[in-house]
Amino acid sequence: MVFTGTLATGWGATAAYAEYRRRRRARRRERYLEGVRYLLDDKPDRALEVFLGLAASDDETIDTHFALGSLYRRRGEVDLAIRVHEHIVGRAGLDPRHRNAALVELARDYFRAGLYDRAEKIFLQLAEDGIESAVALTHLVRINELQHDWAQAAAMHERLRAVGVPGQPGAAAHHWCELAESAIGQRDLDLARAHLRTARHQQKDSGRVSILRGDVARMQGDPALAVQLYRRVVRLDFHLLPLVLPRLAEAARQAGDTEMFDESLRELMRNGVGNRSEIAYAAIVSGYYDNPVILECVKELLATDSDLRDLSCALLAPGVEPGPAQLLSVAAALRNVVLRHARYRCSVCGIDSSTFLWQCPGCKSWDTQRAIAALEFLPKAARPGSPPD
Ligand SMILES: [Zn+2]
Repeated sequence: MVFTGTLATGWGATAAYAEYRRRRRARRRERYLEGVRYLLDDKPDRALEVFLGLAASDDETIDTHFALGSLYRRRGEVDLAIRVHEHIVGRAGLDPRHRNAALVELARDYFRAGLYDRAEKIFLQLAEDGIESAVALTHLVRINELQHDWAQAAAMHERLRAVGVPGQPGAAAHHWCELAESAIGQRDLDLARAHLRTARHQQKDSGRVSILRGDVARMQGDPALAVQLYRRVVRLDFHLLPLVLPRLAEAARQAGDTEMFDESLRELMRNGVGNRSEIAYAAIVSGYYDNPVILECVKELLATDSDLRDLSCALLAPGVEPGPAQLLSVAAALRNVVLRHARYRCSVCGIDSSTFLWQCPGCKSWDTQRAIAALEFLPKAARPGSPPD
């Protein structure tokens, strides 16, 4: 019968299609396991070829691809992560949610690979479209910081706040301080003061803002105000003393009142902000130690630091107090030791540097560098726990 024949043909086609799908699933599973085996055998390139082949024929593998891209980036194989995410973005008929997620990941890959112009272009578009704005704007702040485009970094920070993210007031203040330093370099002191007002608005108690305000005050012929501002810095943040000491001395000299400098140092000791050894060390690091009050602090350093105590006992006659000339020589010798080594270390990631930097070159944190609080006589490589250069 015709009817029976049609039914049989229909059943046969359905069964054939079911068989086709079963075989396709089995092939896909086999290929998938092959990709996993390549990953386990540490053959990421071969694994990538297999997984990209799967994506070309199957929508269901998209989650695997995101996981794979994330895995490659975490392993530092950013070029492979880029290939995975570019592959997803380039697929026709992709769900917009998947496409946007892949764009965010691709921009992150470019950022990680140091391809900042490509990353910036995608993040700008995402921020414009209101897609993952917080992630996009946070990266845009970082990209502009890395490119030293401080005006753009400040603008992106404002946009970050506008989308409800608190941001980092300290970082924002530094962006404006960078702009102020640039204006100071161009002798545009009115512009510098305007930038510093904005920086204060971002962060009220910023040591860097007070330092720069003091510098501007000195340049505008108001050293007494500069002294007040520099004193304020040390009260706010004692670890900035190596930066402040030479400035404070110069402002007091400009004001014709060197006693003001000595009084500032005595105030530090009285208030117990830092002990005498710390003041001595800050003075040696900054190179500003030719001062009777500081040399008293150097004497304290010799008496309290175990290595230096042994050294001074060996060099000085027993029971003899070192005089100013001897203390000056000791400070100069210690300065020579300090100059041969890193003088500052990041309190977050531990990276050393010979000059003071407001932003750590390693972890990009602001305000984390500290003067190394001990004189290190051994070369870096010979110190216990030192990572290889
Ligand atoms: Zn760091």
